[in-house]
Amino acid sequence: MSVSDQDLKLRLAALTPEQRKLLELRMQRQAKAEPSRPRPLARAAGANAFPLSFAQQRLWLLERMGLGGAAYNVFQAVRLSGPLDVEVLGRCFAEIARRQESLRTRFEAAERGPVQVIEPPRPRPPEIRRVDLTSLPEPEREPEALRRAFDEIRVSFDLGRDELMRLSLYRIGEERHVLLVVLHHIVSDGWSMGVLLGEITALYEAFSAGRPSPLPELPLQYADFAVWQREGFSGDVLAEQLGYWRQRLTGAPALLELPTDRPRPAIQTLRGARHVQRLSPDLARELASLSRREGLTLFMTLLAAMEVLLHRYTGSTDLVVGTPIANRQRTEIEKLVGFFVNTLVLRTDLQEDPPFRELGGRVREVALGAFSHQDLPFEKLVEELRPERSRSHSPLFQVLFNLLNAPMPQVRLAGLTLTPVDVDEDASKVDFTLSVQEVGEGLSVRWLYNTDLFDAATVARMGGHFERLLRGIVEGPERRLSELPLLTAAEERQLVEWNATAAAYPTEVCLHELIEERVDRAPGRVAVSCEGEELTFAGLDAAANHLARRLRGLGVGPEVPVGVFAERSAEMVIALLAVLKAGGAYLPLDPDYPADRLAFMLADSRVPVVLAQERLLPRLPEHGATVVTLDGAAAQRGERLASGAQATNLAYVIYTSGSTGRPKGTMNAHRGIVNRLLWMQEQYRLTADDRVLQKTPFSFDVSVWEFFWPLLTGARLVMARPGGHQDASYLARTIVDEGITTLHFVPSMLQVFLETPGVEACGSLRRVVCSGEALPLELERRFFARLPEVGLHNLYGPTEAAVDVTWWACEREGRRGVVPIGYPVANTQVHLLDASGSTVPVGVPGELLIGGVQVGRGYLARPDLTAERFVPDPFAAEPGARLYRTGDLARRLPDGAVDFLGRIDHQVKVRGLRIELGEIESALAEHPAV
Ligand code: AMP
Ligand code: MG
Repeated sequence: MSVSDQDLKLRLAALTPEQRKLLELRMQRQAKAEPSRPRPLARAAGANAFPLSFAQQRLWLLERMGLGGAAYNVFQAVRLSGPLDVEVLGRCFAEIARRQESLRTRFEAAERGPVQVIEPPRPRPPEIRRVDLTSLPEPEREPEALRRAFDEIRVSFDLGRDELMRLSLYRIGEERHVLLVVLHHIVSDGWSMGVLLGEITALYEAFSAGRPSPLPELPLQYADFAVWQREGFSGDVLAEQLGYWRQRLTGAPALLELPTDRPRPAIQTLRGARHVQRLSPDLARELASLSRREGLTLFMTLLAAMEVLLHRYTGSTDLVVGTPIANRQRTEIEKLVGFFVNTLVLRTDLQEDPPFRELGGRVREVALGAFSHQDLPFEKLVEELRPERSRSHSPLFQVLFNLLNAPMPQVRLAGLTLTPVDVDEDASKVDFTLSVQEVGEGLSVRWLYNTDLFDAATVARMGGHFERLLRGIVEGPERRLSELPLLTAAEERQLVEWNATAAAYPTEVCLHELIEERVDRAPGRVAVSCEGEELTFAGLDAAANHLARRLRGLGVGPEVPVGVFAERSAEMVIALLAVLKAGGAYLPLDPDYPADRLAFMLADSRVPVVLAQERLLPRLPEHGATVVTLDGAAAQRGERLASGAQATNLAYVIYTSGSTGRPKGTMNAHRGIVNRLLWMQEQYRLTADDRVLQKTPFSFDVSVWEFFWPLLTGARLVMARPGGHQDASYLARTIVDEGITTLHFVPSMLQVFLETPGVEACGSLRRVVCSGEALPLELERRFFARLPEVGLHNLYGPTEAAVDVTWWACEREGRRGVVPIGYPVANTQVHLLDASGSTVPVGVPGELLIGGVQVGRGYLARPDLTAERFVPDPFAAEPGARLYRTGDLARRLPDGAVDFLGRIDHQVKVRGLRIELGEIESALAEHPAV
């Protein structure tokens, strides 16, 4: 678990001669710059009340504020095989505690801040807590020892009172033990554990043979380092080092917004868990040889790969990653137990989608620069840079990368073998730490992640992506970051399956033809009721035929848009159907729209004919169209005519405003809307007993299914009175009076509706369909509390793709933290793509693009805008297929359901509350390295 300068040596060894030269030059330059070097380390003089190092001070403050705890324990477990002399082991620890003053240091609050006080060596050896597990069945003993070790490392120290080393010995056999050493980070670090084990080995060997300690006395102690650091980092030295870091880090983003499974808590927690994966020897070899070829160290190659992963997950091109550094470059302190480890902040520019090989070069520069300015304590850096502070995340970076030494090898002593063993961990001081370690021929990759942010499955997936990426990198380092593969083969297959929505619906039929079929099956049934007025299927059909013939007489046929200027009424329904029967496409002109909007739509669409209610005519702006009045249309009768329309012809044109620019006429063909309606019927199965309330203004495409779904299936279409859609008590009354089974709400109106008296009496209701905006979880809960027997469905889709393209049945006992928009409807595909058009993995936000039969024809008379939003579909087999780019941001949940996140242009940020900390901010700076 330690980083060492062994590691730095390894990194140096992997450099080309040129690079080594460069690095040496830098180091010399640094060494020569006399005034800006701290003075040499020496034995500190003075009373036994030494200052704390910067890192110690921070831990001490955290501890005082009750924010420390077991997360700052450093530990190592070792299996001891062979006859063990516990008395000798105890003497070894006594001798180590005598040599290493850090192990007998106490921390005291003094007037001018905390001090460390070194206690005299204790007369008795430190206590070794002994636990005998030999009464357990043999196979359970070691696992039990490790489980207990896991418990033990979660017990915190009290800095003022405890000895800061705890020893436990688990006996698991006659000649088998597990030794656990736990230290507080304030007196140790990962490297210290190596020092400790080395000393035990030397001492145990000597003591058991009756020899004295072979270890030379230590020339310096940790307190000397603390004094040196305090004195050294001020004035010029500080200014020089800070200058470098300030220049590197100015303007760096405060937070890397990783896609998390849960929103970031307002106050960061340290709860963590581990995911371990193994990379094969062949991949490890290839990574090593790629590194050599590219003049990179393995550290640099792996760091660059991790940055590609972060970039592909977040879209960020300005990445900041931390890395622990042993900070033992001076030989005088190599053999000390103490808190030396420092964290370097590595900031890399990933702009312009470079080839991986170029990124490697950038990372090399970043790493070399950082290594040659590694003296500045991280705490000092945070204190001086004063980055934007939030208690919801660690400062400067939220992700750590670490290349670890090969594990400590087995050591054989007189009859005793020491083997380091792994104990699980459950504290994560950052969002996640990726540690890679060379083990045998391969590489072991460990992810220690915060469990308040990530699920185990998410991290496992991330591990799969990292591995896929590494393979892609060794296969083709010349590829650009956006071209490197991320998804595993299984994920690729999975995505295809989630989009396998083929259903054999008729594709050559027009909407009005399907309605005519329904008319012929039950001509006498009531098709439409409107405030007491009723029209049978046959009556509706005949009235629409009559009007269609008039439209035909005015030249209406395929591809001709016809304006409909009407309030909710039976005539409105007749008008829409008549336009379709004449072969044309209806274009709603909502009388409630402002005159300039109506004028724009009339001029922009150049409708040759407008169907209008006579009393509304004064509100119709000037236009060049022929007006046909609708009054009395219900009483007319006519024969059917051949519409001449094909399924690919336009069925309706609806103007959408869009967030920017002028409104645009969105064109939809019969084929798309027929598919949408047939899917809806297959999914929800209206029967002749159902009654659907039409309440959505017909300028919104939700109204399309409200009109035609019942007409297509023989259910009854009930028209709400004009304006009724805004009046919740009217709606509740109408549901009861008319026996409504099915209706639509936008979530904001559903909210109002649910709080309306009389809602519980809506016993006829079977299903409520929501769409148009995000459906909040709270509202879903409220819905089922108020209407436990009613189904709630969340549909999603833009006007450009035939009303809705995904569906979700809300769950009464839902355990998810969100209400998804769900799965693609029949013959429809949903793709989530990043900015460069690559499919994003599960959990990662991407733009939602829609493919399949429902993709509309584009915007009326706006070829440029159409080409921009409707793009060639690279996933489709048939030529000419297009995708619609929604501009919506979404991600897939592990089961394939799509989770809507917001509009891309005003990205939702799932950020925790920011709390300013003022004075104590630097004390809280997480120093995540252990
Ligand atoms: P429109 O073209 O008026 O139907 O608006 C479509 C847009 O409304 C989509 O692109 C989404 O931004 C939003 N939208 C529609 N349905 C939903 C839904 N169920 N959840 C979240 N947003 C939705
Ligand atoms: Mg829609």
